[in-house]
Amino acid sequence: MVGLGVSVSLKVGHVCSCSNGFGTVTMEAQKQKLSPSKTRRKSSYGTSRRSVLKKSFSQEQVTFTSPLSADPLVALIGGGISGLICALFLEKRGIRSTVFDTGIHGLGGRLGTRVVDPHPLKFDHAAQFFTVSDSRFAEIVDAWMEKGLVREWLGTVGDLNNGGEFVPFLPSPARYVATKGMRFLADSLLSHSRLVNVVRPCWISKLEPFNGMWHLSENGKPRGEFDAIVIAHNGKCANRLLMTSGLPLIAKQMKRLDLSSIWALLAAFEDPLPFPGSTEVPFEGAFVRGVDSVSWMANNTKKLEISECGGPHCWTFLSTAAYGKQNKVPQENIPSATAAKVKAGMLDGVESALGLSKGSLPKPLYTRLQLWGAALPTNTPGVPCIFDPFGRAGICGDWLLGSNIEAAVLSGIALANHIADYFQSPGTDPGEFAVGLNNEFQPLEGHDIGQFPGLGSEEKMSEGQAYELAK
Ligand SMILES: Cc1cc2nc3c(=O)[nH]c(=O)nc-3n(C[C@H](O)[C@H](O)[C@H](O)COP(=O)(O)OP(=O)(O)OC[C@H]3O[C@@H](n4cnc5c(N)ncnc54)[C@H](O)[C@@H]3O)c2cc1C
Repeated sequence: MVGLGVSVSLKVGHVCSCSNGFGTVTMEAQKQKLSPSKTRRKSSYGTSRRSVLKKSFSQEQVTFTSPLSADPLVALIGGGISGLICALFLEKRGIRSTVFDTGIHGLGGRLGTRVVDPHPLKFDHAAQFFTVSDSRFAEIVDAWMEKGLVREWLGTVGDLNNGGEFVPFLPSPARYVATKGMRFLADSLLSHSRLVNVVRPCWISKLEPFNGMWHLSENGKPRGEFDAIVIAHNGKCANRLLMTSGLPLIAKQMKRLDLSSIWALLAAFEDPLPFPGSTEVPFEGAFVRGVDSVSWMANNTKKLEISECGGPHCWTFLSTAAYGKQNKVPQENIPSATAAKVKAGMLDGVESALGLSKGSLPKPLYTRLQLWGAALPTNTPGVPCIFDPFGRAGICGDWLLGSNIEAAVLSGIALANHIADYFQSPGTDPGEFAVGLNNEFQPLEGHDIGQFPGLGSEEKMSEGQAYELAK
């Protein structure tokens, strides 16, 4: 008995009987030498880390042996940049897909922008900007530039050392921002697609292999059947989804991923932020050094060119990963005492970084605090994508290659082409399409908010930090 309610008595090369919520069916299946245990398992959902781990590692491998469809439909679970790019590149290869995403306001995941009416205030509250190092990504960014979706960020960016010493990045590689905010970039990507269907908001809670297809559902509500699935998200949610899906190798790789936590404090001020020796801070964005609580600050009003004629100044402050870990709570249920402590700690950190005397940071007229509980990967298998050809399931996401938008985009492209090759090469031994299922993980280097190739102050994560995050 497998936890999803699919009963599978798998024998090598045999036909087996499977029953699930949709009735009893017969599915051809082959047992791979993948399952470490044949013990009977309980069907109940446990949610502790130990329970997730146990279930992930002991589940039986599902193997589809039904012929490959000539017109396959792929489900992408996650409408962050990696999932969206994967859908677009599947379309380029003539493959239909459906993107499921939990986003209430829009697509994009960690490409998040918060708009607060009626002012309106606007903040990118996760990804801030990006640099480009790969030629394939450069081509995509050029196309985004042509459409006006992104533009170069010419504002001054640099390192801000605790106490108000600012060192600009000179020279700096080209830095890019989404013209209207990161979420609007994500929302625009599929506007002309013909073969991609988007279902949002939707939280896929179950994956069931059934009669040669993957059946997806959201809290008991069927969400369609698909020839292959793509997991384009990570963290606790992905681990739960995978723990009884029949994909132990995929689940095992996902479980190896470590993620940091980062607090985002959005704050609007009536006037420009002061700076010792001048009326206004001399930068639009800064990596903060030597402050426990803050690793990044950016003037989003200037970055997003929102207001030409005064109005509130919107700043995004992002915490260090260490501070995120110290103050970690369930992100969907932040105790008010923690929120108050973190907000005060981060505003103190900003004051100290700017070299302002105690109590002299102006009071914000608006604040909003958010915890990114699964913020950035701290380790990686260093492979563009993962694909299990027997289970017809793949993974894309930033963490496979790095911790930034570029890595997520490259991963989405790689998985799309891999899946297209798989479906468009009938008769090939499926085993040839297995990728990334056993790669070892290495620690990732970079800033607490990701990697910015070429930016100059890119640094190694200290051993101490890496250890802290891995615990
Ligand atoms: C605070 C912060 C700052 C950052 N700053 C930068 C930066 O300045 N520059 C940079 O390049 N990168 C930055 N990053 C990293 C960058 O945001 C990510 O690398 C990139 O957005 C990852 O995209 P993704 O598609 O891999 O994952 P995600 O964006 O996480 O997308 C996953 C999506 O899947 C959805 N989902 C999850 N579970 C389900 C489910 N069961 N059913 C349906 N949908 C589901 C989620 O809601 C989400 O929309 C930052 C990240 C954070 C958190």
